[in-house]
Amino acid sequence: MFRPAVRRCARPFTTSFRQGRAARSYASASHPAFDWEDPLASKSLLTEDELAISETAERYCQERMLPRVLEAYRNENYDAKILSEMGELGLLGSNLEGYGCAGVSTVASGLITRAVERVDSGYRSGMSVQSSLVMGGIHEFGTDEQKQKFLPEMAKGKMLGCFGLTEPNHGSDPGSMETTARPHPTKKGYLVLNGAKTWITNSPIADVLMVWAKFHETGKIRGFLVERKDCPAGTLETPAIKNKNGLRASITGMIQMDNCPVPEANMFPDVEGLSGPFTCLNSARYGIALGTMGALEDCIARTRAYALERRQFKNNPIAKYQLVQKKLADAVTDAAYGTLAAIQVGRLKDEGKATPEMISMIKRQNCDRALSNARVLQEVFGGNAVSDEYGIGRHVANLFVTQTYEGQSDIHSLILGRAITGLQAFV
Ligand SMILES: Cc1cc2nc3c(=O)[nH]c(=O)nc-3n(C[C@H](O)[C@H](O)[C@H](O)COP(=O)(O)OP(=O)(O)OC[C@H]3O[C@@H](n4cnc5c(N)ncnc54)[C@H](O)[C@@H]3O)c2cc1C
Repeated sequence: MFRPAVRRCARPFTTSFRQGRAARSYASASHPAFDWEDPLASKSLLTEDELAISETAERYCQERMLPRVLEAYRNENYDAKILSEMGELGLLGSNLEGYGCAGVSTVASGLITRAVERVDSGYRSGMSVQSSLVMGGIHEFGTDEQKQKFLPEMAKGKMLGCFGLTEPNHGSDPGSMETTARPHPTKKGYLVLNGAKTWITNSPIADVLMVWAKFHETGKIRGFLVERKDCPAGTLETPAIKNKNGLRASITGMIQMDNCPVPEANMFPDVEGLSGPFTCLNSARYGIALGTMGALEDCIARTRAYALERRQFKNNPIAKYQLVQKKLADAVTDAAYGTLAAIQVGRLKDEGKATPEMISMIKRQNCDRALSNARVLQEVFGGNAVSDEYGIGRHVANLFVTQTYEGQSDIHSLILGRAITGLQAFV
């Protein structure tokens, strides 16, 4: 899916703020040059296929997504066509095998999220929900019929999904959820779902809603695939949550279920408890770890370009001042470390050696560092930081959300703390 296109016209991506590689330092035949865009040579760890996939994704994102993002963010206007465009390129569910999916490595799928998030975390969120949470969940837990029915259309971006775990009263503690699944009062072979989910990416536009609910017989959490087209009027509502101050280029909403019918055949057959949603989240969290490095790298590129152009005091570019350089040095270091760590965990994941705590570690660290550095880099723009034309404020607002969803950073600290001490501090 990726390879022919890439090999024919591979070229490095550029953002409107990139200024080439002028700052490579001390290059000579005997000394390699320092590359501020890839300081620890993470590219050297990638396979040829991964490099090609990354270039395809970067090119699509810079050429097709970047021009749309300012308007989308200003008007909170998510263009769902983006998912079908990604589907055409094979970017959806890319690390899944079969069902029209590309079957690439975990690292390659992370490089795709990095390319998308370099443009905007909202676009990456829309893709991650489709790819990792919903397609990944169906691939992992679904019956053959469920896989055949949903995955090929979802891989093309023709059927859109959302993932409903969070409830108005239960976010960090989904085990206390109130949504229930009970037998349908009149229809044999059907259940009804009752309850509400909130802050659900893509819910207003989703054709299939993966809903987690407590099953009447056991009280344990089970996963259900609700098909919007089969829900009678009044049983399923998915109102959008408007006027967000982050992730405005994505669409977010609620899922309100009032005796919402779902066939028993649309329940995941075996998985129960939190291991279902948490398995899906693990894969998405990996994508966030590399994705946020894309957002941070874009902040770095924009800040560097700005600092080289902006002149203050004796007509010096502000990039000449030590305090500005320190901000860039910190951010470039964190982006490089975060990228290497994510590549390592991706390799371990494909070898079956990654633990959930490793994913917690890179999700937490990369989100925290991306947010913290982005906030500091924003200062370099002075008053212009307030204008959305400069892009940095959008990343800062988005990165707050990445630090909050899919396990707020402090919750990941508790997961790591439990693994380190053997004592759990959640309650
Ligand atoms: C734009 C957006 C998109 C989202 N998309 C989805 C989606 O597609 N699907 C989905 O299911 N959810 C989604 N979410 C929800 C998200 O996952 C939750 O917001 C997140 O899990 C936090 O839950 P909460 O908002 O209820 O915060 P709370 O759980 O109320 O937490 C508030 C604060 O308290 C802290 N806290 C809570 N418990 C403890 C504790 N025991 N010890 C120490 N500190 C604690 C938290 O760390 C946090 O800082 C989305 C959220 C946003 C903002």
